[in-house]
Amino acid sequence: MYNRDNVFYKILNGQIPCEKVYEDAIAVAFHDIHRCCRIHVLVITRGLYINFADFVKQASADEVKSFFHAVSHVANMLGVKDSGYRLLMNSGLDAGQEVEHFHVHILGGEPLGKKLK
Ligand code: 5GP
Repeated sequence: MYNRDNVFYKILNGQIPCEKVYEDAIAVAFHDIHRCCRIHVLVITRGLYINFADFVKQASADEVKSFFHAVSHVANMLGVKDSGYRLLMNSGLDAGQEVEHFHVHILGGEPLGKKLK
């Protein structure tokens, strides 16, 4: 069950500030507070989903499509389309998912190497 007591819910509701780079009806994107590389932006759903599996199960096909279009659009906006970037979705304990509100990390702006950072 989705728990509203998480930091991204508070960001969505304006209770906690963020460095926003993009928003539309489906998605909101902002800089990660602890950047792990030169460009580290989070794209979160406006809908209340816990993780990737929950999003794919509960969201409509249009919402899933629009969300990933937004992720692609944000990557273009950040100027990493040609240089390349990594998308990261942590899901659950073993992945170290810290915030239980579905989100995608966009990582780039420098060579990331073969391994996850
Ligand atoms: P996860 O491990 O859940 O995939 O990643 C959650 C991310 O949210 C982490 O990279 C963490 O730095 C970021 N984060 C946690 N709290 C805040 C916050 O208050 N503001 C922002 N902008 N990012 C946050």
